Amino acid sequence: MGVPTLGCHCAVCQSADPHDKRMRPSVLLEYDGRCVVIDTTPDFRSQALRVRLDRLDAVLYTHGHADHVMGLDDVRPFNSKQKVLVPIYGSRETLATLRRQFSYIFDPLPTASSLPQVEVHEIRGPIDLFGVKFVPIRAFHGPHPVLGYRFGRAAYLTDFSVVPEASKELLRGLDDFILDALRYEPHPMHSNVQQSLELVGELEPARAWFTHICHDLGHAATNAKLPEHVRLAYDGLQFEVEA
Ligand SMILES: [Zn+2]
Ligand SMILES: [Zn+2]
Ligand SMILES: [Zn+2]
Repeated sequence: MGVPTLGCHCAVCQSADPHDKRMRPSVLLEYDGRCVVIDTTPDFRSQALRVRLDRLDAVLYTHGHADHVMGLDDVRPFNSKQKVLVPIYGSRETLATLRRQFSYIFDPLPTASSLPQVEVHEIRGPIDLFGVKFVPIRAFHGPHPVLGYRFGRAAYLTDFSVVPEASKELLRGLDDFILDALRYEPHPMHSNVQQSLELVGELEPARAWFTHICHDLGHAATNAKLPEHVRLAYDGLQFEVEA
């Protein structure tokens, strides 16, 4: 929902710490002059402005929930600037959701409006994007299948409650593992702090970054309780990844 959460006056929502201001989760990967994002959140435009995003070469989707897709319409300026379709990648389920949520994009009837121009690709296995291999990581978000992605020695896995054993094998040997940890309380669709710490203990990445954090977790107070190599991610966090 983002932090501050609308209508909430809790300590985290009123915190003066900029780390406690959280837009909806996504990541930007920049390499060889290319810019690839994972998910287009409802905050995509603000996030792109913050990092002065000058181009967009591809979008990878984790799943079709509103907090991960609703910024898709804002790819239009990149269509105009780059004069190309933006390739978008997702599972069959996610692409079906996008076609439903954004039916106007896929409507064959002519229109005078500018529409996002996308090239749709179903993910069935690892893909190469501009020389980097992205390995889809299948997981479950309550009953819904979702995809995480591994790229080199890092992986991004948000919105999950269960990671199948076969997927765990793909998440070993990581330097950086970015994973869902919604709050302390259990949730039927999301991993909580305890469950994510257990997964980190099992997979042994060098560093883990918790994301998709709700207003139950204050940045400084939560970090003080976590092991050194596990930190809450925050808006604007940047680090290098070995491909
Ligand atoms: Zn709050
Ligand atoms: Zn979700
Ligand atoms: Zn979500």
